Amino acid sequence: TKGAAMVTAVASRLQAQRKQIDKVLALFRLTQEQLVGIRNKMRVEFEYGLKKDTHPLATVKMLPTYVCGMPDGTEKGKFLALDLGGTNFRVLLVKIRSGRRSVRMYNKIFAIPLEIMQGTGEELFDHIVQCIADFLDYMGLKGAQLPLGFTFSFPCRQASIDKGTLIEWTKGFKATDCEGEDVVDMLREAIKRRNEFDLDIVAVVNDTVGTMMTCGYEDSNCEVGLIAGTGSNMCYMEEMRNIELVEGDEGKMCINTEWGGFGDNGCLDDIHTQYDKEVDEGSLNPGKQRYEKMTSGMYLGEIVRQILIDLTKQGLLFRGQISERLRTRGIFETKFLSQIESDRLALLQVRRILQQLGLDSTCEDSIVVKEVCGAVSRRAAQLYGAGLAAIVEKRREDQGLEHMRITVGVDGTLYKLHPHFSRILRETVKELAPQCDVMFMLSEDGSGKGAALITAVAKRLQQPQRD
Ligand code: BGC
Ligand code: MG
Repeated sequence: TKGAAMVTAVASRLQAQRKQIDKVLALFRLTQEQLVGIRNKMRVEFEYGLKKDTHPLATVKMLPTYVCGMPDGTEKGKFLALDLGGTNFRVLLVKIRSGRRSVRMYNKIFAIPLEIMQGTGEELFDHIVQCIADFLDYMGLKGAQLPLGFTFSFPCRQASIDKGTLIEWTKGFKATDCEGEDVVDMLREAIKRRNEFDLDIVAVVNDTVGTMMTCGYEDSNCEVGLIAGTGSNMCYMEEMRNIELVEGDEGKMCINTEWGGFGDNGCLDDIHTQYDKEVDEGSLNPGKQRYEKMTSGMYLGEIVRQILIDLTKQGLLFRGQISERLRTRGIFETKFLSQIESDRLALLQVRRILQQLGLDSTCEDSIVVKEVCGAVSRRAAQLYGAGLAAIVEKRREDQGLEHMRITVGVDGTLYKLHPHFSRILRETVKELAPQCDVMFMLSEDGSGKGAALITAVAKRLQQPQRD
């Protein structure tokens, strides 16, 4: 009976622990009602951003891109493209052949050291030009004068396709003297400083826009571009008459929503947890990009880490010992989260991954870690779904359609690598936008190829004036 009492004691302690863990996980569970509320709030923010009066204070900026047309298949030529702001910095050579809609690409990945991402603007752009020089050398193209499309994955205010003033840095960048400056000018000046080659910078493009274009090249129904990667963002084709910031009522223009800023006015506070607050406070841009920080690859692992620290403090994990590793920022990259959540992985393998991260776990620990990862990534996918539902519903209503089919071009490591993210995202959109048939199209190398396509379209449109 003494033994039985002990068993009961252990069982009730485990039960109490389970309760504590569940309490934390419950903070990340969103009800259908909450999701509908988030979709509706996002919709309100879209309208704020589009209207002249409310635009200056809008947290979802709804930036005009001056991209008005899709490629029509007649584009051709050789283009250079730069892709800055995602997981990798790349320089690309893109060859577009007209008629057959075929595109060939060559690219090289370059590292951008932390001290350059967070150094001065001049150093950053000199480094970029150095990489272009290396690439031209490598390709045997030194001295070639090619048109260039610049995929710059940060919020930019544009007055034309080849001008973009950086509003503010996001994600891991914080180079000085760039905010408020035209990034095309900065690139041109860096090219001049080097005085080795000349390039014709034709377009500056957000990665969402490049992704939409790339998919639009194959499917003309693609009118939304989505990035679920290091950062979070969406663009879509909007009726000109709804864009108060740009003159004219005819046709459509692509709007870069910059929805990462959703929630910066406090409208998501009811679902923002203490862990989200900690991640925000430890970031390079506290108080900014709240929605992005709840949804994108750069931050999901950090949320997980904050939860694990708290559970450990409560004595519910890792024998109550907070290791130095666990205190280290950025240890849970998207690829680790994706591995941990893979259903094909046995717990022993989860423990091995944790071991690689320097975390010593028991079998129970690994179960809890997996649950935490699941709760965080599920919430992210649902939040993405709510945002996407808001835009497709808006498009459907604006066109007065009972039912609408639309294709969304998608790119990003989270969408591509994570074992459940894309499914949960799709399911959520289906539930929250039942009158829309949403097709998802993965873009292969979307942002770079898209920049080249946009450059090609811009070149094609320039031609008549030149002749
Ligand atoms: C940037 C967006 C970009 C997104 C995805 C965000 O941090 O503000 O411009 O599209 O990341 O790369
Ligand atoms: Mg990218």
